[in-house]
Amino acid sequence: MDAIKLVILGAAGRMGRALAKVVAETPGARVSAAVERAGSIALGTDCGELAGAGHFGVAITGDLDAALKDADGVLDFTAPASSVAVAAVAARLGLVHVVGTTGLGAADHAAIAAAAAGGARIVQSGNMSLGVNLLAVLVEQAAKALGPDAFDLEILEMHHRHKVDAPSGTALLLGEAAAAGRGIDLATQAVRVRDGHTGARPPGAIGFATLRGGSVVGDHTVVLAGEGERIELTHRADDRAIFARGAVRAALWARSQPPGLYSMRDVLGLAR
Ligand code: NAP
Repeated sequence: MDAIKLVILGAAGRMGRALAKVVAETPGARVSAAVERAGSIALGTDCGELAGAGHFGVAITGDLDAALKDADGVLDFTAPASSVAVAAVAARLGLVHVVGTTGLGAADHAAIAAAAAGGARIVQSGNMSLGVNLLAVLVEQAAKALGPDAFDLEILEMHHRHKVDAPSGTALLLGEAAAAGRGIDLATQAVRVRDGHTGARPPGAIGFATLRGGSVVGDHTVVLAGEGERIELTHRADDRAIFARGAVRAALWARSQPPGLYSMRDVLGLAR
């Protein structure tokens, strides 16, 4: 099979640069185009050089349509509006679309699902790393085994000072895993913010707490707190390459799947 031709969307961003390096190191994959917003100061810069990965001969462009025309897939760690717009194009062209963007609302998720139903091969996850997806499996098992009466479940996350959405996509992914383990709907049980006189903890709630600062790539701890004992399940990301490697693996996997919406658990063979 020919090397998969991948477009990096948001190529000048933190994840965009990590993706450029990983694609270049991956046999069977190459960067066919790199895209930033029209007007970005990164336009015209070689995407490999910007990533510190050597000269790729791929200048960053603002012309998304031209970039996608000759591609097999898009690696997209950008912003919700951008991911929704690109999903519609991926559906029209039958492309692989790896969506790592977080902070999507319900309408954004519905639009992504519609694009997957309309012909795109979409892999979407709030965390593309092997470690976090394995942690999600463990959290689901622990939540199921311990139950909401004896153990309260809280999810703590910390990220770098530039992160714009909260709780993190990973915290929500872990919350979904805990809710699945308990057989409940996260949306009805999540306590995403606490401030002032909140009253006692509602039974069965799944609580979230958010820290922001410095250059932290991503730390997550799921706490199961019972009477007289506490279990803490933690993942710490030291390097964005773990997300980029997962994203490239997802693109290679999705290429041979029928159109549809997939998760990293599907890619990694950890599906329920
Ligand atoms: P970042 O450094 O801000 O990079 C995002 C890049 O995308 C920026 O260069 C931004 O340009 C660009 N962009 C935004 N809208 C665009 C559009 N319409 N067309 C082209 N480029 C566009 O952020 P980051 O730290 O790389 O994170 C990006 C996203 O990935 C966030 O949602 C983050 O939470 C998520 N993330 C997910 C995972 C995972 O495993 N799923 C891991 C890490 C991060 P401007 O600066 O001009 O807006």
